[in-house]
Order: sequence, then structure tokens, then C-alpha cells
Amino acid sequence: MSRVAYVNGTYQPHGQATVHVEDRGFQFADGVYEVWSVFDGRLADFDGHLTRLHRSLDELRIPIPMTRQAMERVLKETVRRNRVNEGLVYLQVTRGTARRDHPFPAEGTPPSVVVTARSMPLSKGNASAEKGVAVVTHPDIRWGRCDIKTVGLLPNVLAKQAAKEMGAAEAWMVDEMGLVTEGSSTNAWIVDENGKLRTRDTQSNILRGITRAAVMKLIEAEGLELDERAFSVEEVKRAREAFYTSATGFIMPAVSIDGARIGDGKPGPIATKLRTLYLDQARDEAI
Ligand code: PMP
Repeated sequence: MSRVAYVNGTYQPHGQATVHVEDRGFQFADGVYEVWSVFDGRLADFDGHLTRLHRSLDELRIPIPMTRQAMERVLKETVRRNRVNEGLVYLQVTRGTARRDHPFPAEGTPPSVVVTARSMPLSKGNASAEKGVAVVTHPDIRWGRCDIKTVGLLPNVLAKQAAKEMGAAEAWMVDEMGLVTEGSSTNAWIVDENGKLRTRDTQSNILRGITRAAVMKLIEAEGLELDERAFSVEEVKRAREAFYTSATGFIMPAVSIDGARIGDGKPGPIATKLRTLYLDQARDEAI
């Protein structure tokens, strides 16, 4: 089946879909993005991701390119035209096209908007979640505004590639104090040696994960204890469980870090339960 991409107002065959060479996303990574997971052809946590998109755009003073209704229509139409039942839809907004020059272009330059969608069967993620995955550590060399979801992802790309080359599924980035910040494209969690759930607070330099926020609500509803506080690599090694969260991977149990076994080396009961609860809820609430 041929894929379709939305580019600045039109749906184009994916293979021929292009943006201008002087698009500021291409020239300067001057743009932001969002990713929604798709369940039964519907978008999970539409509002959560849209709210974060607006915040990212506001922080960078890129105009909001279209109304909420128009955005919902374009995302759903892209999902429909690509016949995605289980998968993801990706949206990118850049500061638009203008002669290459560092300062912002003239007021009124329209932002560029690109939307793509692709299938990703749930069964594949479920198989990884049943076994658990390996993570490796990597220095966090990113800029100081990782709370903005920009397309400037080179440090994340290098970290993920390093993980892949070591046979791991994810890289957990570590700051200069030896504390885990987050994964290259996920938020990091442990169940510490005292049985408390831990994830780094968002005052710090990490992305405010939408899945992270949803999992926090589930933790509260389940009456589990959460300590929103950074943890060290040593604490991960002593933890009972570890896992990471994202809109596309949901809750993924990590069973080793830098080759050292975490807990009993199997997905833990809390991560496994949270994954089931999260998937049920995301599917129920998708629009
Ligand atoms: N941290 C980073 C660096 C990410 O790129 C992502 C995924 N976009 C996340 C965390 C997880 O965020 P979310 O749950 O909103 O997908």
C-alpha cells in the first residue's frame, strides 16, 4: 500500500513529499514535533500531546499553525489515508522557509507543517515487554532546554545508536553528577530498593513525557508510592525494577543496565501491571 504525507496543506505520495531546501527545520533544527500513538485508528491522548505542542511552539515563538479542530482533522486524515490501525502519527512544525539567516524570518512567514503516519503492530512491543530489554548509559550532552520537544535530536541520535551497537534497546543519559536524566527517546523509571517508584522531576532538564504524566496518575490511582527524584546509575543497579515510558513504547521493562542485571533479570510486577493498565486506558480514551 502506498503511503501518504501531509505537507503544508496537501496530501502527497510519501516518496515524493518534500519541504524546501531553506526550510528552517532542515537548516537550523528550528522546529518542534509531537508523536501520538494510534489504537484502532484513533489517537491516544490527543489533548496531552497537543497541549505540549502548543507549549513547545510558544517557548520558541513559532506561531500555532492551525486550530485544534484543523489539527485533529489533519492527523486523523493522515492516519486514515495510510490505513494505520495500530501505529503512530508524527507531526513536525518548523519556523518555515526563508533565506538562510540566523535571526527569525519576517513576521508572517508561515510555519511548515508535516504529518506522517505509520503502522507499528502492538504485538512487536508486547514481545519485547514480555522479555524485558537492555539499556546502556551514555553521557547527556544535550542543551539546557530539553523540556522543549525540538527536532534538534543529534545527541539523542548518537546515544540511541551507541545503544544499538551494544545490543541494547535504549540509552539512559547520565548528567555530570552521575544521575540519570532520561532515555534518548523515553522517560526513565525505577522501583528502588525500598519498593518506591522513582522518576526524575521535571524541574530538571528533561522532557515532560505525556506517558510519564499518564503513568503518574495510574500510580496514584493504584495507591503506589512515588518519589519524583533523580536516581543514580548505582541505584538502578540496586533497584527491584526498571522501566521506561514513551507514547510509542508505552511502558517497557528494562532488565539490565550496562550489562548488570536489574532485580531478578525479568520484567518486574509493577512495570508489567502499569503497562497493562496504561494500554487499557489509552485504548479506551483514544479519539
Ligand atoms: N524523553 C525524550 C527525550 C523523548 O524524545 C520522549 C519521546 N518523545 C520522551 C521522553 C517520552 O515522551 P512521551 O511519553 O510524551 O512520548
